[in-house]
Amino acid sequence: MARCDDLAMHSDEPGRLTRRYGTPALRAAQDAVAAWMEAAGMGVRRDAVGNLLGRYHGSDPAAGTLLLGSHLDSVRDAGRYDGPLGVLVGLAAVEHLHARGERLPFAIELVAFADEEGLRFGTAYLGSGVFTGALDAASLALADDAGVTLADAIRAFGGEPDALAAARRDGADLLAYLEVHIEQGPTLEARNLPVGVVTAIAGRSGLQVTFAGEAGHAGTVAMPLRRDALCAAAEFVLAAEETARSLPGLVATVGQIAAEPGAGNVIPGLVRLSLDVRHADDAARDDALRRLRARTDEIAAHRRVVATWELVNDNPAIACEPALAATLARAVEQTGHHTHRLPSGAGHDGVMLTHLCPVAMLFVRCAGGVSHNPAESVTAEDVAVAIETVDRCLLLLATAPSSP
Ligand SMILES: [Zn+2]
Repeated sequence: MARCDDLAMHSDEPGRLTRRYGTPALRAAQDAVAAWMEAAGMGVRRDAVGNLLGRYHGSDPAAGTLLLGSHLDSVRDAGRYDGPLGVLVGLAAVEHLHARGERLPFAIELVAFADEEGLRFGTAYLGSGVFTGALDAASLALADDAGVTLADAIRAFGGEPDALAAARRDGADLLAYLEVHIEQGPTLEARNLPVGVVTAIAGRSGLQVTFAGEAGHAGTVAMPLRRDALCAAAEFVLAAEETARSLPGLVATVGQIAAEPGAGNVIPGLVRLSLDVRHADDAARDDALRRLRARTDEIAAHRRVVATWELVNDNPAIACEPALAATLARAVEQTGHHTHRLPSGAGHDGVMLTHLCPVAMLFVRCAGGVSHNPAESVTAEDVAVAIETVDRCLLLLATAPSSP
């Protein structure tokens, strides 16, 4: 908890926590974590994009490597636990081994990803994308608000933009990736549980929906003659809400809406809006999109407007590996707590890591489900349960090395 407080002091902005990729604040946070890693008996290095890696070697070189980790960057005006908590819980587990002079058969590699949130360049999973070889080289030309390209930012951070493809971590020796993260939702709090085992990271569809009607004079066009695009969009927003409420586990959000021409005395002729739909089960998400598409066509026909529906991005759900999740659940039981399984509505580095190895996640209860906000809060007692769970999970994996 004290280390989370320490890392929160390293910010790009005075008075609030904002830690973007490649900044002096991120470097300072990494330097602090690197020193703790070294003190815990780990060999420390940085890869070509600046991910920080600490390695605690195992007793059997043939037993492979278990990855623990999370990210050290943040959103703007962030809380202090989203990301750093997962790195520091992993660190604590290694410290416990080191203090006992104990080696597990497998090595542990603790990864502090340099950019997960994508605040500076709009590139979610930049750190884990390089680590897994999934980053598109075209992203290097992206520029931040100040016009600095990603390639230059990588160079300034001590990395090598030309070596990113070669920096991909070979997955051959990897047993699994295990990440601890705050829940960012209210489920564990509602069930009065300190931790939960993640079943899947929800799939997500992002769409742009457009309604084209006819602009006209707000004073002269009689109501029955209107083809008001914004009224159609209003029906659509409520239909999206209704669809989501009728399907358990589904969430749907219209977060952006723009009406044209956008004058108080003109009937809106054109409306563009965003739609974000998520579910842990891809078939359920597809079904919801089909239903909502049919509703959209009904609304358009009824209001004599033209609806168009464009899929902007479509990411499948990522299942956590069942055997590994079961081992994690057993570790939770050993701490004396009931195991609750829950999906993650938010994306995490584990999405990228599934390209390399099995993935499991442990969620820690956070107050009010609040995240991406300075009010983000966890208790020392819950964090202690998370650390003990990871400790016990490592021992379970060591006694059954084939289980991941
Ligand atoms: Zn996070």
